[in-house]
Amino acid sequence: MATVLIIGRPNVGKSTLFNRLVGGRKAIVDDIPGVTRDFTVGRVNWQQKTFQLVDTCGLFENPENIVEEKMKEVTLELLGEGDLLIFLVDGRQGVTSADIELSDYLRRQKKEIVFVANKVESEGAFYTAANDIYALGFGDPIKISAAHGLNIDGLIDEIFERL
Ligand code: GDP
Ligand code: MG
Repeated sequence: MATVLIIGRPNVGKSTLFNRLVGGRKAIVDDIPGVTRDFTVGRVNWQQKTFQLVDTCGLFENPENIVEEKMKEVTLELLGEGDLLIFLVDGRQGVTSADIELSDYLRRQKKEIVFVANKVESEGAFYTAANDIYALGFGDPIKISAAHGLNIDGLIDEIFERL
């Protein structure tokens, strides 16, 4: 089964998107007693097709040195296993240094990336952040609102097209 990783700095909405895509299935993989891990795995089923989705949670969240911490074995292993990365940014609050650092890191991975701006409940909300988001160098993001369920179908279609 194909594996898709959600990657982004803290607070961009990774877990909200994960829950939106995986829905009720999350509890099954989350509630394993005695198992501690820094990421969450679920399954997305869509029109007879399926993929495994990973919320990378805290793995990419070290404000001190986000890149060096990422070199941890588990993280590299996880990235290696990903068939596709969802690089999630905040389309409303905009870009931070953590986004830029993550961008540089992701660019060096030879991975298929779907670039997504979350929290875009309206075009107006995206407008202020747009320039900085384009400057990250991943092109035009798919604009979604994970919390409000906007353009989730568009995102899923793109994921299956790229897998
Ligand atoms: P994570 O740290 O990347 O996992 O981000 P979370 O999923 O925990 O979300 C961080 C915050 O952003 C929470 O307060 C969410 O309610 C909020 N949030 C997530 N998605 C959206 C969205 O689509 N629109 C808006 N307006 N807020 C969102
Ligand atoms: Mg989270």
